[in-house]
Amino acid sequence: MKFYWIVILGIGIVSEACAQITDPKATKVWEPEPRVVKVGNSNSAAPSDAISLFDGTNMDAWQHEDGSPVNWKLEDGMMTVVDGAGGIFTKEAFGDCQLHIEWRAPIVIEGEGQDRGNSGVFLQNKYEVQILDSYQNRTYSNGQAGSIYKQHIPLVNAMRPPEEWQTYDIIFQAPKFNADGIKVASGYLTVLHNGVLIQNHAEIKGTTEDIGLPKNPAHGDGPIQLQDHSNPVSYRNIWIRKL
Ligand code: MG
Repeated sequence: MKFYWIVILGIGIVSEACAQITDPKATKVWEPEPRVVKVGNSNSAAPSDAISLFDGTNMDAWQHEDGSPVNWKLEDGMMTVVDGAGGIFTKEAFGDCQLHIEWRAPIVIEGEGQDRGNSGVFLQNKYEVQILDSYQNRTYSNGQAGSIYKQHIPLVNAMRPPEEWQTYDIIFQAPKFNADGIKVASGYLTVLHNGVLIQNHAEIKGTTEDIGLPKNPAHGDGPIQLQDHSNPVSYRNIWIRKL
């Protein structure tokens, strides 16, 4: 008998809870109101709250690893890797972010596989989204353009031919570490290549390693790195929004 009373009471509580929401206003949330950003004329243009990292006029937001000025070629509104000059790093360190980057593989097609139009964009100087001329250029799938290098194969190959510009729109969620230096939350990467989703909230396994398995050292914010992999890959219109 007691059991039935509990059931009836339970049904009563549930139905009362449901009955309470009869007004559509009860589930409307007004605060906080998203702030207004002024958007550009295209999805490639920086919105008003973005930090410009390269607008074609100078390379002042960047430096080499030793802090020296960038020794890449700046011409025609783009900057191009100079073989041997080394990678370039943003002077500012970043954590969670949305990064827009436009790149172009060398027009003169040279080399095969990993030796054709190789560069890379490293988030926090540790996690590489591969840049490679993967237009009709087979290599290992977890090393082609748009791969999270040696960790995640891109969902599709969205390459344009090498004479055309490519866009990456990258959403990066940084991994988190506790006070003891233990990773307590993985990082994630979502990437659109030329507007096509190629990495969908992919879990970062750790640092990008060419040899061996990813590592998970504790770290905070870090610079964005563009890699010098000896090939003259060009860049233009780079901007970032902190999240
Ligand atoms: Mg690379």
